[in-house]
This record gives sequence, C-alpha cells and structure tokens, in this order.
Amino acid sequence: MAFVQSTLSVPTSQLQISQNVFNSTRNVVKCLPVQNPTKSFWIDSPDANPLAKEGSTGLLPTAADICIIGSGITGVSVAYHLATRFMGKEPLKIILLEARDFCSGATGRNGGHLTPNVFFDFCNYKARYGQQEALKALELENHTAMGILEFISSQNIAGAVDLVAGGHLTAFVTNDEFLRAKEDYDAVKAAGIDLSNVEWLSKEDMLSIYGVSFPGARYGGHNLWPLKLVTHLYNFAKSNLSLSLHTSTPVNTVERNSETTNSHRWKLHTPRGPISCSYVVHATNAYASHLIPHLRGSVGIVPTRGQVVAVRASTSLDKLSGRPSWDANDGFEYWFPRPVASSLEHPLYILGGGREAESHFAHGEIDDSKSNKEVAQVLREFLPGLFPGKFERGTEPEMEWTGIMGFTQSRDPFVGPVGGYDASNTKHSNFDGQFVAAGYSGHGMPRAFACAEVIASMIFAEFHGTIWNAPKWLPHHFLTSSLADQPDA
Ligand SMILES: Cc1cc2nc3c(=O)[nH]c(=O)nc-3n(C[C@H](O)[C@H](O)[C@H](O)COP(=O)(O)OP(=O)(O)OC[C@H]3O[C@@H](n4cnc5c(N)ncnc54)[C@H](O)[C@@H]3O)c2cc1C
Repeated sequence: MAFVQSTLSVPTSQLQISQNVFNSTRNVVKCLPVQNPTKSFWIDSPDANPLAKEGSTGLLPTAADICIIGSGITGVSVAYHLATRFMGKEPLKIILLEARDFCSGATGRNGGHLTPNVFFDFCNYKARYGQQEALKALELENHTAMGILEFISSQNIAGAVDLVAGGHLTAFVTNDEFLRAKEDYDAVKAAGIDLSNVEWLSKEDMLSIYGVSFPGARYGGHNLWPLKLVTHLYNFAKSNLSLSLHTSTPVNTVERNSETTNSHRWKLHTPRGPISCSYVVHATNAYASHLIPHLRGSVGIVPTRGQVVAVRASTSLDKLSGRPSWDANDGFEYWFPRPVASSLEHPLYILGGGREAESHFAHGEIDDSKSNKEVAQVLREFLPGLFPGKFERGTEPEMEWTGIMGFTQSRDPFVGPVGGYDASNTKHSNFDGQFVAAGYSGHGMPRAFACAEVIASMIFAEFHGTIWNAPKWLPHHFLTSSLADQPDA
C-alpha cells in the first residue's frame, strides 16, 4: 500500500525558545477571569454543566471555616479530599467561590487528557533536582491517575465521565525529540522503574498502523470529560461535608480580619459581600497572582492562553486505528477522538496546541473570550497534514475555544502555604492559614488531584494541631517552602 508522507503545519524544536520567552515575560497585569469566555465543547454541550450557576443569587454566607477560591479540578479536589478526611466528623463549614460559572476555567476548556508522564524529561529533572525528586515527579502523576481512576470505579461513573482507556501515543517529529525521549526512557529504566508497558514504534510501524510517518512510543493513558469528573467530585464532597458553592462570585481581595470579635482571621471581599474564614485555599491557577501579588510575573505564575478545536475526521474510527490519545512536537500539540456509538462513525477530534505560531507563545495572554488567528490556522492544517487522507483540508471545526493555563519557570506547580518563597528566593510572610496549589503549566490533569490532596492534608493537620508529614510521592521541590533551595530554570 502506498502511503503519503505526513507534513506539519507548526514550527518544530520550540521548547527552549518558548522557555527563553517565558523567562523574559515581565509585568503581567493582575487579573480576574474575563466574563464572556469562548464556548468550549466540555462546558457548552447540552446539559454538560448542571452546576453552572449554582449559588449565584441570593444571600452569600458571611462566615465559614474554609473558603476555597476556584471551582476547577484543584478547588473541587481540595473539597473532595477534605471530605474523605473529615467525613462529617467535625462540623466544618466550607465555601467554594467561583468568579464565573462552575468549572469554567482551564479544567472546563482543556484537552481532556489524563496521561501521567512515564519517563519524559526525566534526565532534565534529575540534573536539576536529583534522581529521587525526578522519580517522585513521576510517582505523583501515577498517584493522581490511580486516585482519579479509583474514584471513577468506586462511583461506577466511567460511562458518565466518558472515560476511555485508549492508551497514549507520542509521535516524535524531530530526531532530537526522539533521542531525548530514548535517553529519558533508559534513565528511568536504569533507576529500576518497570517500563514494560512502553512500546517503541518505528516510523514504518507508525506508518502502517496509524498512517503517520514519524517514529513513536505507545504507553498507558486515558481521556475523559473533565467537567463531568469534577461535577462528580463536587457531588461526593457535598454529600459528606457542609459545603456550598457560589458561582459568579469573584474574590477581589483577601484581608486580615480587623474585627476583634471575629474568630476568623481572614476576610474575603466579593461584589456580593464579605466572607470571614480561618483558612483560604487559592485554587485559582492562572489567576493566582490577582490575590497573591508575589506570584506575579515569571518568578510566579504566568497566564498563558491555550487554543483547542473540535474537528471531525473525514473517515470512520475503524480506519483511524483505535482510540489512543496523542501528542507530538514536544507536547505542543495534543489530540484524541471522542467516543463514537459505532466504529463506522466519523469521530470528532479534540485538538489543542499551536501556541508556537504566536511569537510570545501566548505567555501573558489572559483573555479567553478571544482566540488567535495564526493559531487557528495551524490547528486547521495540523491533522490533515499529519494523517494524510483522514482529515479533509478546509473542514471547519465544529467548535473552537481558548482557556488560560498557569505557567511557572520550572513547569511545576507551587503547592503549600502561601507564605514561603517565590522563585526569586524572597520570603513572604503574613499569610497564615492561606494555601495554594497552582501553576501546572498545561499539565494539570495528572497532577492537580494529588496537589489538592496535599493541601487538604496540611489543613487537616493544622486543624488538629498535629505535624504534617509529606507523602512519599510528593516532590519536595513542588512545596512553596522549598522554593529558596531551587536552581534557576
Ligand atoms: C486549552 C488548554 C488545554 C489543556 N489541556 C490539558 C490536557 O489535555 N491535559 C492536562 O493534563 N492538562 C491540560 N491543561 C491544563 C489543565 O487544564 C489545568 O492544569 C487544570 O485544569 C488546572 O485546574 P485548576 O483547577 O487549578 O484551574 P482552573 O480550572 O483554571 O480553575 C481555576 C478557577 O478559579 C476561578 N477563579 C480565578 N480567580 C478567581 C477569583 N479571584 N475569585 C473566584 N474565582 C476565581 C476561575 O474562574 C477558574 O474557574 C490544559 C489547559 C488549557 C487551558
């Protein structure tokens, strides 16, 4: 059979360039989410978001024990993990505040992949933080994925969240990418980790199985409907805690409570009135620096816009060789087919990426009510170029949207008490009882659930006056308290 060679619509070898651009990002303005975001497949499909407007009207409670700001996977997972720890044993009152509709940030606008890293970037990590930390970074992702899958299985909701255990494929579009991946794989194996589920595919194998003329690696991975997962996590937490959700309620400022008669140390100001509380969780990801000024700019968390299309293949799923999710070009592009009722159906693909088409890699972009024309163009050409004959050039996406990611210099999140250090080694105090988990740098699905578990366990320990012990899977360098020890990116 004659195959047509793949061609790419995007620039390659952009990883280091994008890092340099990130490092020079300055003066990112503080921002709240904009009010009229683009419509995403996950949020705006019929009946997808029953909690969209929950608690958006009526009287706002004036006090709580814990206020969680942000209703994406991080904020809701903190509530979930608090529920599994407290389990109704303490009369705790928890309030979840959301600036827009429920889960309308990155979690409701992402690529839908739940793919824990198995070896990529290991050598880089090892050089920066040592082997133990590099292994923990992998372990945290495995812990997250297992935790989410266990939740889905225990609640019997695999169908309800469209979970697909289709595996994941990485296509190496440059030789350099391929060689780095091989080196990472060898180093992880040498560290004693079982990588027997990783299969390397030659260019010829990839061409004959998938019609893609680049070598690849196949390993475990899932895709799902993130908003539906988060809705189920919320419902679980709600049925085990005194939890209320208030959407359309942006937190404008957090101030120390000056009322001496009030036992709560913090006061959150919203357009609907103030709320006093003892603990504050910042689960605001890209927007974290609005309330935590020392996280502004490239030493902290830089909002970075991602763009996604939902586009239909011009052939049926059976001719597209299964349902794996994919990424290519150092992870800049990522895609997978949505489930179909019959393998003869032409599946809808969710494809994200194309930031390389913007000179500043969309760093500093905070507006998800807009999309970018150059990115739109490369996304339209990407799949027809990679899979010749399986996607028709000129087919318009059925939906196109943007979302704001939170990028950090190290590409790792900040997790822990808000005080602590920023990436320029400056210590910030006076935030007692405030916690943050944010800055997943476009790779939050296999990390946020575990980072939320860390925050819930820290609050639980502080609440009971006990010592918090770090879980064995947590890289020390994720902790806000460790930032002063870290090498520069
Ligand atoms: C286009 C795109 C594609 C992506 N693809 C993937 C992928 O395939 N796989 C993957 O692992 N990760 C992906 N990511 C990253 C992943 O979606 C995020 O890392 C993850 O969803 C972060 O979750 P979160 O809850 O921390 O943040 P968010 O989901 O952004 O939630 C934060 C919430 O806080 C609210 N908020 C902010 N400030 C305030 C305030 N002051 N008051 C009240 N509310 C506030 C926001 O409205 C928002 O709802 C992608 C992200 C984007 C944008």
